[in-house]
Parts: sequence; C-alpha cells; structure tokens
Amino acid sequence: MAEHEHVRVAVIGSGFGGLGAAVRLRRAGITDFVVLERRDSVGGTWRDNSYPGCACDVPSHLYSFSFAPNPDWPRNFSGQEHIRAYLERVADTFGLRPHIRLDSEVLQARWDAEELRWEIETGSGTLTADMVVSATGPLSDPKIPDIPGLDGFTGKVFHSAQWDHDYDLRGKRVAVIGTGASAIQIIPAIQPLVGKLTVFQRTPAWVMPRMDREISGFERRLHTAVPPTRALRRQMLWLIREFQVGAFTKHPAQMRLVEKLAKYHMTRVVKDPALRAKLTPDYRIGCKRILLSNTYYPALTRPNVDVVASGLREVRGNTLVAADGTEAEVDAVIFGTGFHVTDVPIAHRIKGADGTTLAETWKDGMEALRGSTIAGFPNFMMIIGPNTGLGNSSMILIIEAQLNYMIDYLRQLDTLTTAGTGRAALDARPEAVRSWNTRIQERMRRTVWTTGGCESWYLDANGRNTTVWPGTTGEFRRVTRQVDLAEYRVLRAPAPADRRSADTVEAAR
Ligand code: NAP
Repeated sequence: MAEHEHVRVAVIGSGFGGLGAAVRLRRAGITDFVVLERRDSVGGTWRDNSYPGCACDVPSHLYSFSFAPNPDWPRNFSGQEHIRAYLERVADTFGLRPHIRLDSEVLQARWDAEELRWEIETGSGTLTADMVVSATGPLSDPKIPDIPGLDGFTGKVFHSAQWDHDYDLRGKRVAVIGTGASAIQIIPAIQPLVGKLTVFQRTPAWVMPRMDREISGFERRLHTAVPPTRALRRQMLWLIREFQVGAFTKHPAQMRLVEKLAKYHMTRVVKDPALRAKLTPDYRIGCKRILLSNTYYPALTRPNVDVVASGLREVRGNTLVAADGTEAEVDAVIFGTGFHVTDVPIAHRIKGADGTTLAETWKDGMEALRGSTIAGFPNFMMIIGPNTGLGNSSMILIIEAQLNYMIDYLRQLDTLTTAGTGRAALDARPEAVRSWNTRIQERMRRTVWTTGGCESWYLDANGRNTTVWPGTTGEFRRVTRQVDLAEYRVLRAPAPADRRSADTVEAAR
C-alpha cells in the first residue's frame, strides 16, 4: 500500500456487508475505493465459521444479494462452504479483487477535522479516505467467557468460530459450552465421533424443525432458464417472514402457538422426562433467537451425551465445574459462546471529531441514526449498526437497505461539494440520533425480546436492546432509502488560507 494514499471510500471488512458495499460503489460509478480485510481471504463470518455442521438457517434464495442471484443453490439452507464460495464468486464476478487489500487489519481510523477526511492506519500501511464504511459485522470477534482456572486446563480449547481442524475429536471426552445457534449445529455433527460429549447448557433454547431439503435439478434448471421463478421464490420467502414480524414486535402472545409446535418437536424425540425438563425453556419463544434443527434433540438422547443444565463456572485441572456443582473431566472444550455483539471491538479503533473513540461514545450503549451513522463521527457509516438485527429474516435485506443509504450519502456529499465552496462532510445531529433511538426504544417495550422473560445477547450490559430492528425489513428499507439532510450538520473544510486559524466550521445550509 502506497504511503499517504487517498481514496474516496474505505470499506472495512469483506463479508457480506463489505463485498456488498464494494458492488454498490462500483455500480454507482465509484471506483476510487478500497476494501480493507484483516485476514487473507474474503467471506467474513462465513469464512471464519467452518465448524462441522455450520449452515445458515435462512433459506439461501433469501440469504443472498438481490443483485447477485444464484439459481444453483443446492439446498434450501446452504452449508457454510457454499455460502463462502458464493462470496468468493461475488468478488470475482463484480471485479472487486483489485479493490480488496487482504492482510490489512484496520488498527486505527481517526477523523481529521481540518482536512475533513479519515486517516487510517492498517497492518499494511496508512491511507486517508473521505468516507469510512465499517462492515465488520456483529459476529466477527469470538467471545470466550472469563472462566476461572481455564488457563490451567491442559487439554484442547477452541471457540466455534476458530475451529481447529487438525485436532482429532475421535474417541475424546469433549465439552461443548453453550446451546446457541452454533452449538446446536456442532453437537449433532460431532456426537457420533467423540467418546463422551458433555453439553453445558446455561439456558435451554427453543428449537423448531428445520424444513431443509435439496433443491432439485429441475428447480435449478427452471430458475436458470426462467429467472422470474427464482425472483418469485425469493419474494415468497421474504413475504412469509414479513408477516411473522408482528408476532415478535407487537403481539408476543401469538408466539404461544409456535411454542406449542416447538414443545411437540421436542417431546416427539426426547422421551426421558428428566432430559425433557432440562431442555424446556421457561421464557417465551422468540425472546432469544429461535433455533432450527432436526438433529439436535436426537443427538442429546444418545448414550454418549450428558446435558448439564447449568453454565460452566470454573475449571479445576482438567475438570469442568458447572454453577450447580456438576463436574466433568474432559480432553477438549469447545466454546459455542457467541461473539462481541454489543461491545464491538472495532469501536475502540475509531476516533471521532473530538478524538473520542466510538467505544467511549458508546460506553452507555450503542446508538446510531437509522442504524448507520453516529454523531461526532462524520462521514462514517456502519453496516449492521445498532438496532439493525433481525429476529426472523435475512440480514442481507438489511445490508442492502443500508447500502442504498450509503450511496445516497455519497450522492449528497457530491451535491454539497459541487454547490458549495470546497469539500463537505456530514455529521449526524445528536438530537436526530436521540429522537431515532427514543422511537426505537419505545417500540421495543412491547416486543417479545423485552417481555419474553429471558436474558439474551440482544440486550446490552444495561438491559437495553441495541441490536434488533423492531419492524419489518420493508420498513427499514423505506427509512434508509435516502439521507435526510435535516438530520445532519454539514461540515466544510476551511479555505486553505484560514486553515491555521479556524477549526472546521458548520456551514449554513
Ligand atoms: P450465542 O447465540 O451468543 O450463544 C452463546 C451460548 O453460550 C448461549 O447458549 C449462552 O448461554 C452460552 N454461554 C455463555 N457463557 C456460558 C457459560 N459460562 N456456560 C454455559 N453456557 C454459556 O452464540 P452463537 O451460537 O455462536 O450464535 C451467535 C449468532 O450467530 C446467532 O444468534 C446467529 O445470529 C448467528 N448464527 C447463525 C447460525 C445459523 O444461521 N444457523 C449458526 C450459528 C450462528 P445463555 O443463553 O444462558 O446466555
């Protein structure tokens, strides 16, 4: 990377968000951009999560870009390797490779209020950019709980997102910590291999049947020959999920019916009443993410599996001790304990207009305008920012909506620059951010995530839901279609002669 290189847009991350941003930039005729990727290949969370059984529980025809359809998805719910290959293909098909800088971890990005640009320090050099689009995602930095004694454990330890494929699990005594979306895919995949499997379950999950099947050769040929059939399929998958949203956000009592189905799904397989009691949640379905699996419950009934209905509290030598005192000596510990979702590590590396980091700004909780921009961080946008997550649909829909916002943001910057004197930048007004978040939190009150009686990673340390969008994806798309300039301060760089004496000034619009 050349020293002091300047680009119009620097995108951080090359998962769905970063690659999507790159495609949309090119389509808008913007080629002066880079995608900074910390690892040596693209794919984000779908590159990192290669654990056995890893798959998506949103159908692939919906969990893919509208502008990069794939008529050849092999299954309803694709496995990780297919999704990763899809993203590699997107990088090739849309000519993104020349823009992608691999092994270029962003170490710091600092807003230069005088020059109205970001100074970015990466593992492979420095550069400046008019705008930074952070697409690091909420599922990029694995979280291993701070368990006393773990350091003294002499066996194998790894996180679901950092699977050690060289470690042979066959015949081993293995503990899986957690029963979230990752763990419930791992457990049935490794149960037949291992000698003994102990599952540490702090909170049981609601698990629904997974309506997976192969997509037939006929369907695939049809989708290729008659593209509207593929579009129709996507539309149907989307509509079903849009109709479900109201039950999560406005009428949680309706979820009781779904709960009955989930209970039936369990009792059909789990005949042992003691195990059933352990696996039955005591909160409303939907409060935590609803999991889909046909193989999880059967795996738990196998003779080599023990379910400890208690969280892992400490490790003594090679013995794991649960909060209820249950002990299990194991050879390997696999943490399926999730990610830093409400405390995203990239926030420590982003420094805004007054030198404060995003992490400091967010010390009482994440907040953004329309899930995208943050007061005091001009020309900075976050893909999958605060309150953009979904309880039941495809995050790609949210990403694409935010990319519309990104393109309009750049268009507005262009217009302002052409109309005014010198370059312009946009900074979200604090009152606009506040009013957006007040509305979100008001709507959050009646949702199943608030009323459902559970603790989930949707909530931050203060118990505020700063992760989920309390509406339909259609609504989110509408509210991110255009940047409303009334919600922003327009910043202008002082004329060169005034530079020494004047700080960045807010221009009259
Ligand atoms: P997660 O949903 O955050 O689950 C973490 C699990 O670890 C929870 O069961 C949690 O228990 C448990 N845990 C934490 N500390 C523990 C302790 N000391 N002892 C025992 N258990 C402990 O993480 P994840 O499963 O990796 O999933 C994260 C997100 O990734 C998902 O929600 C989803 O968005 C995505 N994902 C999707 C798929 C898919 O599409 N199929 C697959 C994998 C991941 P508590 O419930 O008590 O907190």
